Amino acid sequence: MGKKNSEKKEKVSDGKIKIAFFDAKDYDVASFEEANPDGKFVIKYFETKLNEDTVKLAKGYDAVCVFVNDNVNDKVISALKKRGVKLVALRCAGFNNVDVQAAKDNLGVVRVPAYSPYAVAEHAMALLLTSIRRIHKAYIRTKDFNFSLNGMMGFDLHGKTVGVVGTGKIGRVFIDICRGFGMNVIAYDKFPAKDSDIEYVDLKDIWERSDIISFHCPLTEDTYHLVDEKSIKHMKKGVVLINTSRGALIDAEALLEGIRERKIGAACLDVYEEEADVFFEDRSGHILGDDILARLISMPNVIVTSHQAFLTKEALTNIAHTTLANIEEYLANGKCENEVK
Ligand code: NAD
Repeated sequence: MGKKNSEKKEKVSDGKIKIAFFDAKDYDVASFEEANPDGKFVIKYFETKLNEDTVKLAKGYDAVCVFVNDNVNDKVISALKKRGVKLVALRCAGFNNVDVQAAKDNLGVVRVPAYSPYAVAEHAMALLLTSIRRIHKAYIRTKDFNFSLNGMMGFDLHGKTVGVVGTGKIGRVFIDICRGFGMNVIAYDKFPAKDSDIEYVDLKDIWERSDIISFHCPLTEDTYHLVDEKSIKHMKKGVVLINTSRGALIDAEALLEGIRERKIGAACLDVYEEEADVFFEDRSGHILGDDILARLISMPNVIVTSHQAFLTKEALTNIAHTTLANIEEYLANGKCENEVK
């Protein structure tokens, strides 16, 4: 047996796998501790994100566990390797923040491809209903005993056309939910599903025919700034955009301009292009440095949640169990079903 393999075996056979856990929040600690009752994994929780400055904290750990806004670029990967780390375990589905090419032949990368498509799809619908039925306004008004209905008029979802971009696990659940509301569904996917009754159209049709557009595709070179000045021009006046996928699918400046021009009727954003330095933290009492985000939040027809769509009990439980199983499988066998290649 080669040195590399005997090392791997040793780590697993002593029953303790050491994990440096970055960007840890209270809910992460609770779900991972629950999934690790016998202490098989020794997990050190770091509040800081993983990046070039913090990578030294990973020295001596078998694996790092990261989330959507940790920056696992080529420099971080070579620094991890130098410090003996064998695996980057994403506790999320998307992996656009990991330089997978740089990791090849250096480190393993595993992810949680599915933990609850329902969590994200239901959040997308919650945002849509809140926005078009002005629930966010009503909540504040009635708290102040203001029972006026002025400015609260919404519209029926029944009979409206929704364009779904990306018909994978989450997109399909969202389609089912929309059909339950009696909406007409059209969809675009670079790799359309062959086993479905989904009406696939090209992107131009999505822009031109949809009253509501919801994004459920990954962030790639193809999908970067899918919504920009040019595509907004093709959209219907009053279109509602929902983004629970990745922020950079939408050019935030173009979105703001579209809202100012009254072309875009509403925007429901669970993700934002420059969210890494803002989301997941309590910034109340601070002056927000991002003028575009501040302006978007100030709009009455924009709802922002801070990358919250995944945050259900069921999803967190699945994330913790799958992540720990991925780490154990990869360190034992040097490969894993949920490896990103
Ligand atoms: P999935 O892999 O099951 O589906 C993605 C779909 O997008 C696939 O059908 C794929 O063919 C399609 N696609 C790929 N490239 C495309 C392109 N260029 N144009 C159009 N479609 C394209 O993924 P999923 O589990 O449904 O997740 C979708 C996205 O949701 C993830 O990539 C992730 O970014 C995001 N997400 C967000 C949260 C959150 O909390 N907000 C949580 C989980 C996932």
